[in-house]
Amino acid sequence: MDFGFLPEEEKFRKEVREFFETDGAVEGMKKETDSGQGFGPYTWEVLGKLGSRGWLTPTWPKEYGGLELPDIYRYIVMEEMDYFTHLAALVGAGMAGHVILHRGSEEQKQEYLPKISKGKIEFALGYTEPEAGSDLANLAIKAEDKGDYFLMNGQKMFNTASHYAHYHWLGAKTEIVKPKHRGISLFIVDFKTPGITIHTMRTMAGLLTNEVFYDNVKVPKECLVGEKNRGFYYIMEALDYERIYTISRIKSELDQLVEYAKSSGKGKDPIIRQKLAQLNIEAEIARLSALRIPWMLDRKISPSSEAAMLKVVFAELDQRIVNTGLQILGPLGQLREDSKWAQLKGEFEYRYTRSLQDLITRGTCEVMKNIVATRGLGLPAR
Ligand SMILES: Cc1cc2nc3c(=O)[nH]c(=O)nc-3n(C[C@H](O)[C@H](O)[C@H](O)COP(=O)(O)OP(=O)(O)OC[C@H]3O[C@@H](n4cnc5c(N)ncnc54)[C@H](O)[C@@H]3O)c2cc1C
Repeated sequence: MDFGFLPEEEKFRKEVREFFETDGAVEGMKKETDSGQGFGPYTWEVLGKLGSRGWLTPTWPKEYGGLELPDIYRYIVMEEMDYFTHLAALVGAGMAGHVILHRGSEEQKQEYLPKISKGKIEFALGYTEPEAGSDLANLAIKAEDKGDYFLMNGQKMFNTASHYAHYHWLGAKTEIVKPKHRGISLFIVDFKTPGITIHTMRTMAGLLTNEVFYDNVKVPKECLVGEKNRGFYYIMEALDYERIYTISRIKSELDQLVEYAKSSGKGKDPIIRQKLAQLNIEAEIARLSALRIPWMLDRKISPSSEAAMLKVVFAELDQRIVNTGLQILGPLGQLREDSKWAQLKGEFEYRYTRSLQDLITRGTCEVMKNIVATRGLGLPAR
């Protein structure tokens, strides 16, 4: 069996790769992503260039800035972007936009989709709260229906892009009912709306994420996405899109280690050779798992259990790569970029601390295994 791309897909991949290899702003975008500060001028510049080619949303209808191509084209762009810039996914183009396309009002489609596809706006995911993470149905931020607007009060937690995104992709409670998930609605909230306060927090790897507070915020009725109280289901759809991603970033880490093993002479050590070969085998298998998702989407098969599987494969393989990286680099590998003794510019010290968040974000690995067990294997939920 040949797992390669079709000739026209390969042609597209070459074109996308050439862009990332030659564009002057790509290196700056990678630095911005790795800094954990969020989008800066280089990122916006690259997104604008990708958007002008229709590459941010290749599967979307042309009227909203897409190219009406199969999902494999979206995968190809993500794979190259992730490899060269370490930015794996966009909230607007990768998650929220899909839900707007399928569930949003015509006004919402006209307002947001062209700007998303052109790389002009970004959204922040607004799901997690202090008491609602894996158990998302437990969210408490209140959206009271006041006729022509919703009055919002409450707090969100770990809403990462909020300090630079334009809109909050917000899950809020619109009704107290049992089961709780039937009282949740989804909103698009402009971060400039009065009453919203954002407090930035820094993870140990330096990534900026945020608490977001709503204090009597008036959100116009037209900001509701789809039907009231159906938000939980729309969030689940968006989460399935969020879990579609590539293994490019961790492949680029592995490639870096292999280069280091060659140039330092450490690759002559049979133990190091074995470890790198093993990781390469696992990366190859992980890539096939990643490629399976667009293949399924193009055949209208829901990749729920497979996307959960991919998330676990990706996050746990990353752990093994960064661990091996630090073993190969030795004690000096733990030093940060600013030390004169730092190895590979402190890259693996950063990658090691950074890798932990991938076990948690987009749904924890334990929760993903529950999905594989119940939806994939048909095991009982309790
Ligand atoms: C760096 C970072 C960025 C993030 N960015 C965003 C963002 O942009 N937007 C957003 O909305 N959220 C974001 N999150 C939040 C993230 O999605 C949640 O942290 C995650 O879903 C887990 O929720 P929790 O922290 O409440 O932990 P909990 O749900 O309380 O889980 C605690 C532990 O219990 C385990 N556990 C929970 N339930 C089960 C179960 N049923 N079976 C087995 N084990 C279980 C978990 O796996 C975990 O180990 C981010 C988090 C981090 C760390």
